[in-house]
Amino acid sequence: MPQLRLNSSNFCCTFVAVLFVSFFLSATCAFRFPRRTSALLRHRTYAATSAFHPTSTNVHLPASTAIVGAGPTGLFTALMLARRGYQNITVYDRLPRPDDPSSPTWGNPYRSYNLGLGARGQIALRAADAWESIEPFCAQAIGRKDWTPEQGERPEQIYTDREYKTQVIQRDRIASCLLGELERKHGDQVSVWHNVECVGLTWLDEANPGPEASPSSAEIGEKGVRLRLHRQCEGQELEQWTTEARWVVGADGVRSALRSALEVKTAPGGHHGQTQKERVRTIKLPERNEFVYKILPLDLRPKYGTGPGWRPDLNYSARSKGEVTIEALPTREGIFVGVVLFRPDSSAIAKIQGKEDAREFFAGSFPQFLDVIREEDLARFATGPTFRLPSFSYCGPSIFYRDNTLLLGDCIHSVKPYFGLGLNSALEDVMALDKCLSESEDDVSKALPLFSSRTAPQAKALVEFQASFDYNANTLEGFLRFVLPLILDGIFHRYFPAFFAPNGIRLLQDHRSTFRQTRRRKQRDRIGQAVILGVLLTGIGKGLGWAVKVAARILLKG
Ligand SMILES: Cc1cc2nc3c(=O)[nH]c(=O)nc-3n(C[C@H](O)[C@H](O)[C@H](O)COP(=O)(O)OP(=O)(O)OC[C@H]3O[C@@H](n4cnc5c(N)ncnc54)[C@H](O)[C@@H]3O)c2cc1C
Repeated sequence: MPQLRLNSSNFCCTFVAVLFVSFFLSATCAFRFPRRTSALLRHRTYAATSAFHPTSTNVHLPASTAIVGAGPTGLFTALMLARRGYQNITVYDRLPRPDDPSSPTWGNPYRSYNLGLGARGQIALRAADAWESIEPFCAQAIGRKDWTPEQGERPEQIYTDREYKTQVIQRDRIASCLLGELERKHGDQVSVWHNVECVGLTWLDEANPGPEASPSSAEIGEKGVRLRLHRQCEGQELEQWTTEARWVVGADGVRSALRSALEVKTAPGGHHGQTQKERVRTIKLPERNEFVYKILPLDLRPKYGTGPGWRPDLNYSARSKGEVTIEALPTREGIFVGVVLFRPDSSAIAKIQGKEDAREFFAGSFPQFLDVIREEDLARFATGPTFRLPSFSYCGPSIFYRDNTLLLGDCIHSVKPYFGLGLNSALEDVMALDKCLSESEDDVSKALPLFSSRTAPQAKALVEFQASFDYNANTLEGFLRFVLPLILDGIFHRYFPAFFAPNGIRLLQDHRSTFRQTRRRKQRDRIGQAVILGVLLTGIGKGLGWAVKVAARILLKG
């Protein structure tokens, strides 16, 4: 069953339709094609049965670890290190502590956006024995139902060929689950501080530790890092202090302060004469296809059983003629969190000033949902905030500094949520770090460069490959660069599945391949397609030429 429906017969589907077929649903695909397991693949991907190395063999583990950012990446890193036996792990986050995962507040659809955990994320979480504390709070999305202007209402699709069913959970709730897991199992090794922002870093071997050094700096020696911290509560600054750690992990998201600090440190002419390869740089790709979004809860419960396709475990996706798309995913509590995506200059959305305007808009563009949008949500939609989607960026060629600073998660790769790979790939990265620590016997001075050399190229491949699809398909460039390749992939994979892989969006979800392998695989496909089409077109051209000549001869003779 194809995940993407773009093929020769319905190529008029536009960019948004195609991308959102895979929106959030980062699940395994059933296709198989001959693949060689390279050394790189073994480093990067993990069988479902593999597990974190629970305890390190090294008796000289780093004395202390600081992690900046208690998002899913930072907390999962803390869990991985604690399972290895690390002590004195401290995680800092500037935001307040999220509610307990079983709190009724998660029934509030405005509390946090939803994300889909596919094979990559689930394998990582299972390997760390964390899945059992997350799964009870997830809602399954086992298929999808779509409406498009070209094809109207489509029958529901249930994915029957997937090893891993997509599990949907709020971003803040997965952080809360990981927090609970840490407190239950590793409370003596890990402490998590909320409302604490890291506002500065000093590398202790580069600067005079100064009078603010705490007694622990003696233990850390010359190799450590000093963090300057601010504690705030409801916007009020309560205290400031400094602390030291043997090494620090920056998991502070897309606008990472740690990454900015490393960029300055490793800039040409900066400190320590970093080589080009050792530079930490953020590469931002141009924004070619910008969308913004608003949240719209959908209470589909009254619809269940009223017609085919209304059920609690689907991804609902509807697109209007005016380039507005609703993507709705379930929550454990039953209400769907809809994301309404539109162009920043959308006049249809700009016209919505109040509840009645919103009602009129949804009645005209999305009548199928009108009776499941609550009155209060119509009003909130009109006045509620508009959010930007993250842009494509990655960090490289290096993602570490000296022997004590490492970047992870959205800090090193930021992608659009359409592809459902932001967190899924970050969780995979944490597993890759675990493996590097094992191979380096927990000597971070060896593990950090090893991890950087393996992961930075993957981050680059992930971002660049996804960005290569990010075109507005309503333009000629978008058609040639995005829609046409999808059509070709659909045809070639259908008729020669042993030689040609499915389209790139679907390939990316295959957890058995690294992102670099996926990109290379698609490049090979393109060359193969070009050769076959070239031969075919040359043959047709020659055939036509011959036919014209024969016809001319006959006519002349006549
Ligand atoms: C609408 C939407 C839908 C998405 N859907 C999916 C999906 O389906 N699948 C998927 O895999 N991904 C999805 N993503 C992406 C996913 O949310 C991110 O990849 C993921 O949250 C990254 O986790 P992180 O911990 O690296 O960063 P973040 O989640 O950004 O966490 C960083 C943390 O660091 C803290 N912080 C920042 N600076 C500091 C500082 N100086 N001091 C202390 N703390 C600090 C922040 O408060 C934050 O808690 C989606 C994203 C969006 C916006």
